[in-house]
Amino acid sequence: MTATKFPLAFTTTPSQRARDDAEREAILADPGFGKHFTDHMVQITWDIEHGWHDAEVVPYGPIPMDPAASVLHYAQEIFEGLKAYRHADGSVWTFRPERNALRLQRSAQRLNLPELSTEDFVESIRQLVAVDAAWVPSAPETSLYLRPFMYASESFLGVRSAQKVDYRVIASPAGAYFHGGIKPVSIWLSTDYTRAGRGGMGAAKTGGNYAASLLPQAEAYEHGCQQVLFLDSVEGKYIEELGGMNLFLVRHDGALITPSTSGTILEGITRDSIIQLARDHGHAVEERPVTIDEWREGVASGEITEVFACGTAAVITPVAVLKTPDFEIGDASAPAGALTMSLREELTDIQYGRRPDHHDWMTRLV
Ligand SMILES: *Cc1c(COP(=O)(O)O)cnc(C)c1O
Repeated sequence: MTATKFPLAFTTTPSQRARDDAEREAILADPGFGKHFTDHMVQITWDIEHGWHDAEVVPYGPIPMDPAASVLHYAQEIFEGLKAYRHADGSVWTFRPERNALRLQRSAQRLNLPELSTEDFVESIRQLVAVDAAWVPSAPETSLYLRPFMYASESFLGVRSAQKVDYRVIASPAGAYFHGGIKPVSIWLSTDYTRAGRGGMGAAKTGGNYAASLLPQAEAYEHGCQQVLFLDSVEGKYIEELGGMNLFLVRHDGALITPSTSGTILEGITRDSIIQLARDHGHAVEERPVTIDEWREGVASGEITEVFACGTAAVITPVAVLKTPDFEIGDASAPAGALTMSLREELTDIQYGRRPDHHDWMTRLV
């Protein structure tokens, strides 16, 4: 399956039920995360005969779906997550959208879905944010979260790749992830479940990986932890990642250590950007297998001084404690580490236009 060769032309149908200024401002004053959606969405359709076609911005609303649509039965679905940021001058920008486009293409390959070109992906974001620009909040650390996704919409119960696929983009205003300051989290080590295996879908951004993480995530909550950490599925001794975030350890000499991406880990764009920023500042970065013992012994000996998780939604989240069925590492009352906080500040400064963008990471949308 190949991407359409020509850029798609979008049509726009304005919503008749768009919220008025007062309603929208009330939502933007306390948007939370993933609760409220803007007035419009993007839809593009693919079928085996025509490729990608009918690119539209339409009023946000329910998707009519046949009960036999194969996504409902065999989970042939992938998604992305990125944000639109309002800068002080009112302009609206997004961060490394070509990276999301490329990752959606890699996810599409793995789930045997059709690829959407980088150009059409970025244009779909641009079109939606242009129509719903008033939904990009301006308070500190707020953003408009963008959720592109693609799924098998063909109604057919046979097990094969769908010949009809839909792509959508929806947008949701997001409040500051941490209210009242950055709070380090506790994470739970899942020893009964893994997230991905060799040759599986771990490197694809697909709902199925999240479905597999929900039970261990619930176990994490039961143990008073906010997130779950998964180990490799073969030996059960190498750390991989959290349900939806990558992980870094900081060594006392300032080096960053993060598990290498060998097919079972989702290659985060935040992860990649942190590696670049750390190297810019002369920090060594080691991408390699990391055992749970290295973490445990490193914290005990003082070799490991900071731990943090990262992803688009929360940017960088300091990790204070790791709980396992057998032992606990760290101190819940410990403050966030200095390098953790300076990397977070630098990255958000670039995203919000408060610092020069030396790597050309930002794309203006409006
Ligand atoms: C999306 C995601 C991440 C983080 O990726 P970013 O591009 O940094 O947002 C990490 N792990 C998983 C499993 C994910 O789905």
